Amino acid sequence: MEHTRTPQGDHDHDPGARATARGLGPLSVFPLAIWCGLAVGTLEVVIVVIRKQFVDLNRLYWMPRQFLWLTPIADVAIFAGLGVVLGVVAVMGRPGRWLASRLLFAMALLPLFWVAFPRIYGPAGVLFVLGAGIRLTSVIEGRGPWFRRFVVWSTPIFVVSPMLFAAWTLGGDALAARREAGRPVPTGSRPNVLFVVLDTVAAGHLGLYGYGRPTSPTLGSLAERGTRFGRAVAPSSWTLPSHASFFTGYWPHEVSAGWLTPLDRSRPTLAEFLGKRGYATAGFVANNWYCAADSGLGRGFTVYRDYILPDLASFKWAVLVDRPLEGLRVIDHFIRERFGLDFLRPLARDLWWRFNSGNRKEAAQVNSEFLSWLDQRAEPSRPFFAFLNYYDAHYPYELSAGGVHRYGLRPRDKRELELIQNWRTVDKRNLEPREVDFVRDSYDDCVASLDEQLGLLVDELDRRRMLETTWLVVLSDHGESFGEHPGDFGHGTTLYQTQLHVPLVIVPPKGTGARKVIDDTISLRDLPATIVDLLGWGSEARFPGRSLVGFWDSRVKTTGDPSPALAEVVPTDPVEPDPAKVMAAREVWSSLTRNGWVYLRREGRSADELYHLENDPGERLNLAADPGERARLEEMRGILNRLTGGPLSRDQFQP
Ligand SMILES: [Zn+2]
Repeated sequence: MEHTRTPQGDHDHDPGARATARGLGPLSVFPLAIWCGLAVGTLEVVIVVIRKQFVDLNRLYWMPRQFLWLTPIADVAIFAGLGVVLGVVAVMGRPGRWLASRLLFAMALLPLFWVAFPRIYGPAGVLFVLGAGIRLTSVIEGRGPWFRRFVVWSTPIFVVSPMLFAAWTLGGDALAARREAGRPVPTGSRPNVLFVVLDTVAAGHLGLYGYGRPTSPTLGSLAERGTRFGRAVAPSSWTLPSHASFFTGYWPHEVSAGWLTPLDRSRPTLAEFLGKRGYATAGFVANNWYCAADSGLGRGFTVYRDYILPDLASFKWAVLVDRPLEGLRVIDHFIRERFGLDFLRPLARDLWWRFNSGNRKEAAQVNSEFLSWLDQRAEPSRPFFAFLNYYDAHYPYELSAGGVHRYGLRPRDKRELELIQNWRTVDKRNLEPREVDFVRDSYDDCVASLDEQLGLLVDELDRRRMLETTWLVVLSDHGESFGEHPGDFGHGTTLYQTQLHVPLVIVPPKGTGARKVIDDTISLRDLPATIVDLLGWGSEARFPGRSLVGFWDSRVKTTGDPSPALAEVVPTDPVEPDPAKVMAAREVWSSLTRNGWVYLRREGRSADELYHLENDPGERLNLAADPGERARLEEMRGILNRLTGGPLSRDQFQP
């Protein structure tokens, strides 16, 4: 019977081939499984990198750099476990050996198939590799000696590759640190710069900016020590283009950063500029979707901490872990929806949280990473440029550990709790007013809790007298909508002020600047020009935009007006989770905020929008067709056209 499955011929004269042809012995299963783990680990990483560099529309990895060597470790561990199980199967005589070898090779093909064809339905991959695994095993068994030689000479390659991947990431960090230490410390008095981005904190939800709830006591006390900008406008309504703009000074359409593309190397960043002049540079970010190293925002930072990797979360990046976890969630969802059965829920949730716990990095963690970096600096005399990004106010609006419920409604039931947990993908077309209130309250809780964490950081820096030598810049990258305009929730969806109006507070060293409030409209894109100006390098820096220093320091003669507050977005769909689908269907929005007015347009639509923000802060009464505002409309349209070089196209945002 075995003969029908095993190719016969010359190999029958080779005892080694005959041994292999009988299937794997129980002892040989385990080492072979380890070899499969090593091979799969290396090949999986190679396939992912090739896809991301040359094939995928989505060039963002959405993985930590450490996946390069953590994935091979995970694969070896998985295959070691599999080797033990299949070894037991192989003890059960010839059928056991026959089955063990086929299952082993099928399992080795599975992750490679999944990473090579990520869009093919997971179970279809399982069926395919079962068939292919049986076929491959027959071929291998027919060429026993050849296969053994292949295993022997390839093993060192598969052992060394992950080590090289690890050396590349860890060695790169060490090299950057050496390069920084080799630069002369800048002469003269050069204060530190601490850039604090409260991701997704809308000015309209801050007590400091007139909100009815006292959500921002820390920011309020910082504003007492420096300058608060009352009308700071973000250059885009979502994370990556906004950060890219206030790191480079360029407008979103002038940089590569998009929903699926990182910030490329063509524009110098503030961190690069300051690093080259002898500053120590370090970033500590919590938004792993669009601020992690793969976003390009880490360029120029010697130290850049993004993902935290607590125990099992380190291994989530192996596709053999990630896809089955996702599958378990789908199955759980299906049997709950279909049969109302909940028995899989605890397991699915528990496993998912264990492996995804690294996805939520709380403010306390960002604070502690930054403070321990300060503690461990080899050259404390070297001034630093540090960047913190907090994710606590970003959906899902679940309070961080130890956060206090302060406002309004509490979740009535499990469904409402899931509303904030799954907020990104919830269909928001038929929400009840109570549900929207509940979600907004949850957001306010998160904003207040984040302000509290910022307070802990400021207290600690005050205790260390660190702020006496530091420019502290606190801002947000964009705001957040809660249905103020029909269907408009979250961010990156429109350019209304709910998403563009952000806090900006700049506190000088020693808090020497008398408290100031600037009501002029300014754009965050002017920040790089401002920072280099206040450090004394304004004349040699080539950042576009204009310095804002003249607003609070009358000794400085600012040349010309600040940049006009342009904003741009290719909106995402708050319901559609796949950005690739969204990109294909959406028009570009651009807007100009100026002198208390906002002009807004969507390419391809004839109807522009014009709002008087002072009389109509909610942007409800469109005055674009008002004959009395004709001249203003034409003027703002002219300025916008000049800034964008005419109508913007989607291609400018998705190279
Ligand atoms: Zn953001």
